Amino acid sequence: MPYFSSKSKERLETCEVDLKDIFNQLIETVDFAVLCGFRNKEEQEQAFKNGASKLHFPASRHNSYPSNAIDIAPYWSTFPHIRWGTLDEWSKYPDLKDQYKTYSEYNNACLQAFSLLAGQAKAIAKEMNIPLIWGGDWRTFKDYPHFEIDRDRYA
Ligand SMILES: [Zn+2]
Repeated sequence: MPYFSSKSKERLETCEVDLKDIFNQLIETVDFAVLCGFRNKEEQEQAFKNGASKLHFPASRHNSYPSNAIDIAPYWSTFPHIRWGTLDEWSKYPDLKDQYKTYSEYNNACLQAFSLLAGQAKAIAKEMNIPLIWGGDWRTFKDYPHFEIDRDRYA
């Protein structure tokens, strides 16, 4: 059975109880890492700078405490453990090139892993009656690792 690393656990602890409930159940069936829960001002500005977020502090759902948003990624048993499906990764690791003959094959496999994870998270949320939104469903800025609780829940 998969389980959280201490870092992942620590990050999940900074999240709203709804998110904890969903993702604590998800880890029982599928392996993933929690990349980020709450972001303070410095961390938010850093995320803006490196392109992970389009928002300045405190506009992101990651900026309330506990956090209304969480970023996760599928955890692969092979190296590298966290994958974004970039050309850089595919070129860098010979094992990946052996397994995926073309870059697009590799990229598809990564996107599929994110989508699968999201489908399972959404199914759990639905069962718990929690309105969960996945960033991969957004039309303009696809944010595959990102999940947040619908604002109406806390209105
Ligand atoms: Zn996020």
